[in-house]
Amino acid sequence: LASRQTKASDTIITIKNKQIGGKELFIIAGPCSIESREQLEACAKVAKENGAHALRGGAYKPRTSPYEFQGMGVPGLELIAEIGAKYDLVTVSEVMEISQLEVASKYLDVIQIGARNMQNYGLLTELGKIKNPVLLKRGFAATYQELLMAAEYIMLSGNPNVILCERGIRTFETFTRNTLDLNAVPALQQLTHLPIVADPSHGTGVRSLVLPMARASVAAGAHGILVEMHPNPDKSISDAKQTLSFETFAELTKQVRKIKAAL
Ligand code: PEP
Ligand code: MN
Repeated sequence: LASRQTKASDTIITIKNKQIGGKELFIIAGPCSIESREQLEACAKVAKENGAHALRGGAYKPRTSPYEFQGMGVPGLELIAEIGAKYDLVTVSEVMEISQLEVASKYLDVIQIGARNMQNYGLLTELGKIKNPVLLKRGFAATYQELLMAAEYIMLSGNPNVILCERGIRTFETFTRNTLDLNAVPALQQLTHLPIVADPSHGTGVRSLVLPMARASVAAGAHGILVEMHPNPDKSISDAKQTLSFETFAELTKQVRKIKAAL
């Protein structure tokens, strides 16, 4: 179902009158974690002012340590729904378990499946039964074929609206958190008709590398980019090291749009 051989034309998904997979670059921005109304609203305002299409923010956080902040949960979903509506932004947030899906699918436009759950086949099958488009992130040790088969689970159980996301893979390099595999962008475009987003925030884990790798992602042909930003990046509860300031985010949107226009 995901294969280019079954459908030659690119899949375009329309959400809140905004398209992903078409000619216009789709920009998803927001904090790693939803922390407060003030924080999320500040991000939404800057996202909107700079022409972003979607507001992201985690309410359920897959933290490496169980002692770290696990997310606001349902109050976080309520906040992103309210603020997304106020600023006319598509809302994107991660679901980690089947039990979170019912409430999350009511509050969110797009359900994100994180790298750690890319091969959670029970969860993927349940995503097929909801209407919300799914942003499916590549597992950090998953091949393109494995990512496509994960998309296949969702599509086979009834949901055709899957957006793939390259978010970096684990390599021997330690300077960066992950290695953003930009080969994935043109390679996946040969293999599938689904839209492809690149995430240079998790793909590098290093703030100073996010802008150049966002440029590279767009130059490689990504349909969209996902970046983390925060009113006070060093104070981000999660992923502070890769989180952009509003100033850098504004500059990023200008630069990537120029690159997109030149393609
Ligand atoms: C995130 O988007 O904040 C996130 C946890 O991403 P990933 O699943 O790619 O690590
Ligand atoms: Mn994050």
